[in-house]
Amino acid sequence: MGTPLAQNLELLVYTARMRLRGKQRYPFVLMLEPTERCNVSCDGCGRIREYKDLMHVNMSLQQCLGAVEESGAPVVSLCGGEPTVYPWISELVQGILDRRRWIYLCTNAQTLTRTLHKYPRSKRLIFNIHLDGMAKTHDAIMNLPGAFDRAIDALRSAKARGYRVCTNTTVFKESDPEEIIELCRHVASLGAEALLLSPGFSYTALQGADLFLGREQTRQVFRRIWEGVKDLPLGNTPVYWDFLIGKKELACSAWANPTFNPAGWKGPCYLITDQHHKTFEGLMEDTPWELYGTGKDPRCAQCMVHCGYEGAAIIESGKSIRDMWRMFRWSFL
Ligand code: SF4
Ligand code: SF4
Repeated sequence: MGTPLAQNLELLVYTARMRLRGKQRYPFVLMLEPTERCNVSCDGCGRIREYKDLMHVNMSLQQCLGAVEESGAPVVSLCGGEPTVYPWISELVQGILDRRRWIYLCTNAQTLTRTLHKYPRSKRLIFNIHLDGMAKTHDAIMNLPGAFDRAIDALRSAKARGYRVCTNTTVFKESDPEEIIELCRHVASLGAEALLLSPGFSYTALQGADLFLGREQTRQVFRRIWEGVKDLPLGNTPVYWDFLIGKKELACSAWANPTFNPAGWKGPCYLITDQHHKTFEGLMEDTPWELYGTGKDPRCAQCMVHCGYEGAAIIESGKSIRDMWRMFRWSFL
């Protein structure tokens, strides 16, 4: 099991409630970007490029907490940009906890060791540390010597002080599957509670960058990674893994992971921007969801990212006894 038991139970109840209400589309994870600013500059980052004109903007606490309530999503992924540079990050975390949501605070962890005291200790708060390879590779991707060591130091410090920690790894075209396996085994041995992996995002803002895997390459690479990590606490659901290794097809469910940032509700998804909506309802109601996904929009052709397909994986899990059992084991055992 890679995610907290209570979180999985709450997600189960939430999903049942949405179904009883007859909802076709509903969010699981709100991707909340209180600022697009970052303290580093990674090669594969679309955010700091797409929103370069909004780098000076910090959303207000009211805007951020309003988005949490408006979406109703049980899980909030605090991302960006680097959310720890947001001036009211402690207040924001506390405000989300007060609303009984689960928080994944996505961070490059470069300053986390010395700022840990700012964060409340709660089972609902999970630091999600970004690591894309072992030291040499990770430092090169982040263009920052020592970045890997600082992130690992933060992981150790957070665990030592009783915080929950997971890791988030993006697999790029140049990534070595053996190194990704080594990384996963290393962070698991240090106490990371869940390992999240996803193929790289081919952001519209990075068009022309030759960093990302195509679908067939993704399947090949993830098949090898799966063999090396399947005994570890994985954060991705079993059905999403089936999708990554080519055992199952899934339809895009970008509506399950809506993104809110200083420009508004980003539609249709974390990667593509066709419109920023003023309201969450506007995003859900006015986006022509049926026009997106592989085989429909050429920009979606190679996409297999978790924020596009994990929602579909959760819903798909309810369609067969075998997948329900696997989901049960992943959630509770
Ligand atoms: S740490 Fe994250 S937000 Fe910052 S540049 Fe790298 S990928 Fe982008
Ligand atoms: S497949 Fe879905 S998540 Fe991926 S780029 Fe297209 S709309 Fe976005």
